[in-house]
Amino acid sequence: MECKTFQVLLKSNPEGLILQVPKKFQLSNSKLVSFRPESRRRGTKWSNLILNKSVWCEIFFPLLMDRDDKEKQMTKITIKKGDITEENVDTIVNAANESLFGGGGVDGAIHKAAGVKLLEECRTLNGCKTGKAKLTKGYNLKAKYVIHTVGPVWNGGNKDESLALKNSYLNSLILAVKNGIKTIAFPAISTGVYGYPKEAAAKIAIKTVSDFIREDESIDEIVFVLFSENDFDLYKKLMSE
Ligand code: ADP
Repeated sequence: MECKTFQVLLKSNPEGLILQVPKKFQLSNSKLVSFRPESRRRGTKWSNLILNKSVWCEIFFPLLMDRDDKEKQMTKITIKKGDITEENVDTIVNAANESLFGGGGVDGAIHKAAGVKLLEECRTLNGCKTGKAKLTKGYNLKAKYVIHTVGPVWNGGNKDESLALKNSYLNSLILAVKNGIKTIAFPAISTGVYGYPKEAAAKIAIKTVSDFIREDESIDEIVFVLFSENDFDLYKKLMSE
């Protein structure tokens, strides 16, 4: 019996298991004979499917067939070096302060690019607490909306800063989903004037977003827009780990 072993990735999501096989793999010519059930029992990650050309596996073939549909539903996370005000996404996220009246850094850049109407709308919002998020229109920006979130001021790490930073990302994502947003760009919240250590902040950003998309696939793409080469390299390193 002719058998071939292919590397595959198995991921679990609320609907069950997703099997990812190499694109070049011709499903129509190949039929699944068996997998390694013993790996399942041991709780290890499956990495191989054994295929041959003559025997069908009725359990797994349908899963393999709708692999493309499942891939389409998965949220893409990308990183980019650049200016977030130029992002062509449904919403950009602003690292705002509690007043929502604008400020320096990315906040100042967003208000400048969006125009004075953004400040007018922000004035009606009654501020925003640390870790929370509020939505406005994007006005002159390419982005249709701006989600304003207030990250924590770094205070040495003993004032629940990590929880507040996580909440900033999480509440922004929840607000995005509520508003039917499909593409969202984040800056490195709190890592400028608010002084949050960059690597610790990047880890929270990546983990929060990754955990979120495992539970909710309604956003198509999440972009981390990093202003400096160093920040971009840091995210690149952490994303590949
Ligand atoms: P915070 O007060 O939350 O620290 P800052 O605006 O001071 O906010 O900085 C947050 C991050 O945004 C920093 O990493 C800074 O380099 C970055 N940043 C500043 N301007 C832009 C911009 N136009 N686009 C993307 N990121 C920016």
